[in-house]
Amino acid sequence: MFDTSRLMISVSGLRGRVGDGLTPEVVSRYAAAFGAYVRNETGKLTVVLGRDSRVSGPMFARAATAALESVGCEVVDVGIAPTPTVQLAVEDAEAAGGLVVTASHNPVEWNALKFIGPTGTFLDAKETAAMHALLEGDRDVARVQWKEIGSYRQDEGAIDRHLERILRIPFLDREGIRRAGFTVALDCVRGAGGTIFPQLLEDLGCTVHGINMEPDGLFPRAPEPVKANLAELEALVREKGADIGLATDPDSDRLVLVDEKGEAVGEDYTLALAATLVLRHRQGPVVTNLSTSRLMDDVAERAGVPLMRSAVGEINVARRMQAENAIVGGEGNGGVILPDVHLGRDAPVGAVLVLQLMAETRLPISRLVESLGSYAIVKEKVDRPQGSLDEAYALLESELDAPGVDRQDGLRLEWPEEKRWVHLRPSGTEPIVRIIAEAATREEAKSLVERIRAALPA
Ligand code: MG
Repeated sequence: MFDTSRLMISVSGLRGRVGDGLTPEVVSRYAAAFGAYVRNETGKLTVVLGRDSRVSGPMFARAATAALESVGCEVVDVGIAPTPTVQLAVEDAEAAGGLVVTASHNPVEWNALKFIGPTGTFLDAKETAAMHALLEGDRDVARVQWKEIGSYRQDEGAIDRHLERILRIPFLDREGIRRAGFTVALDCVRGAGGTIFPQLLEDLGCTVHGINMEPDGLFPRAPEPVKANLAELEALVREKGADIGLATDPDSDRLVLVDEKGEAVGEDYTLALAATLVLRHRQGPVVTNLSTSRLMDDVAERAGVPLMRSAVGEINVARRMQAENAIVGGEGNGGVILPDVHLGRDAPVGAVLVLQLMAETRLPISRLVESLGSYAIVKEKVDRPQGSLDEAYALLESELDAPGVDRQDGLRLEWPEEKRWVHLRPSGTEPIVRIIAEAATREEAKSLVERIRAALPA
């Protein structure tokens, strides 16, 4: 009955094109399974519901609400909100879990569900599999009788609580940032960021020039915050003489920076700069994923702290941070995680940390970026080979004979002395293998990718 062939189902959730694979029926089915799963796991009934600003959001939120009520859950709807805001709301409400209707950085025709567990972090691979098992074949989850139907209420305080939490970061120098009097250009891509960024920046004494602030989901550009999509923000920085430009994706867990000259900075620098600030105040381990730039190795080394790498995926980084007692972590795609606030990627948190670094060092963003140095990253995708990838990994491992080998998530080979590495891993959603290499020069990184590609079986 349910055709899931047009959906992308992975550990990071369930994604599809609106009306073409992703329908209210599909959302309802998965929301019911999620509600039944977290209810059963925690013995609690409350589920926090939030969404980004997509036009399809209210429709899917209503479908999800009905489904959650049908399995007896008490829905607390925080409305349009960044994903990190929903994660925090789950913690605050001591809820069974949270559901976010967002396709993150995907184009406007997409929507998706992100599943949050009782601690405010996403479900991991094992938990997601257990939830999906409830839907095996044409099975559906058991619905409650009329007397046990759940409830629905709205919660308008989630954004304010998120802001309060950020302003309580122990080493935050609110006055120092205020005194610096920054002018900030801001592009929220008409996503959920518009509900939190202006208030946060005004609180920090910034003069804000915003574009695409209306959270109406009519994305005026490709919504992924990467240089190719940020020309309008770059122009705004130059026009207003801003000290920095900030761009987020529609659910505001990723942050990318534009320097004072109006040049977008590579997304790897967001975490590197945020971690640099944290390490001026704290000593402790830093965690990032296997595909993130070695800028992070340099940042950690300069501060004399260990850097650990986890499998790719926010939940893997978060779990590792928890295990290592990390003081900061995240992903090279602009996802900063500060455990003082919560264990989730948080664009507003990233912005505050970078602004404080500018205030403390009195250096412009371009100089701060320069001080971190730079590497060349080359990314490729190839068709997934027929044969076993494990055999390919073993072959590559012996052939390339790298001093650093990591098999947590695909294969990562590293030559720390030469400051280069390559990571290959199968995609969770497509029949491809991603190859990503980083080195001092583009040629070196490219040749590393080529060697891997040549060694993979057909
Ligand atoms: Mg996102």
